[in-house]
Amino acid sequence: MIELQLIGCNGGIGGPGRQTTCYGIGEQIVIDAGTGLGTLSLERLARIDHVVLTHAHLDHVAGLPLMADSVGAWRDAPLTVWASAEVLAILQAHLLNDQVWPDFTRLPSVEEPFIRLQEMPAGGTEIAGYRIAPLPADHGIAACGYRVEAGDVAIAFSGDTADCSAFWDRLARDAQLAAVVVECSYPASMAAMAELTRHMHAGQVAARLAALRDGVAGVVIHRKPGLEDEIAHDLQAAPHGGDLRLPVPGDVYRFG
Ligand SMILES: [Zn+2]
Ligand SMILES: [Zn+2]
Repeated sequence: MIELQLIGCNGGIGGPGRQTTCYGIGEQIVIDAGTGLGTLSLERLARIDHVVLTHAHLDHVAGLPLMADSVGAWRDAPLTVWASAEVLAILQAHLLNDQVWPDFTRLPSVEEPFIRLQEMPAGGTEIAGYRIAPLPADHGIAACGYRVEAGDVAIAFSGDTADCSAFWDRLARDAQLAAVVVECSYPASMAAMAELTRHMHAGQVAARLAALRDGVAGVVIHRKPGLEDEIAHDLQAAPHGGDLRLPVPGDVYRFG
């Protein structure tokens, strides 16, 4: 069984009902570290041992430096941040650089820092009882999706991406897949904007969800603020494979 907590699942901020990307997998892991992290209690934050990043855009990492500052001293081991080597280098150069924020990979001491950066192997790895492996994405910068597996169940995260055939080809061959958490930043009417920014629009998402085998849930996230209703209308009007979910922050789904 995999419990998926939609801690933040919007494509931007605006009001208490919009928090950017952060997905809890059990108690110890979050996929991405957007503003949703700020809704968690100190106690809950302190129990997160692993942050797994899809890419370094601010809406996916904004909560990370703040979280380290809030609960780093409460913890007896560093928080491990998993990402590709490219994404880790961006974090180190532009976020944890002692200018935008203290370099918690060396503070409060080099021996016992609050954050430990760990390269995600291309073939994936075992983290806190889950098998986690990168999936292809096409976002115009270093970015990936992830497949998370526990027991005989798996769920896939698209991360931020344009319509990426390599990602969907992998899902089509995945007999364990119970859900895909897929970004849909724009309605179909804004296809040009989606193309420009390497995101998906609702016409593309509807077509991809309709092609999944029966029983795979489509969890649609990263809808841009103010566009949620038009995106929902587009998706609900199209054939979409049945189990279409449009979550809000705080929702919890269990698969398997
Ligand atoms: Zn992005
Ligand atoms: Zn994003």
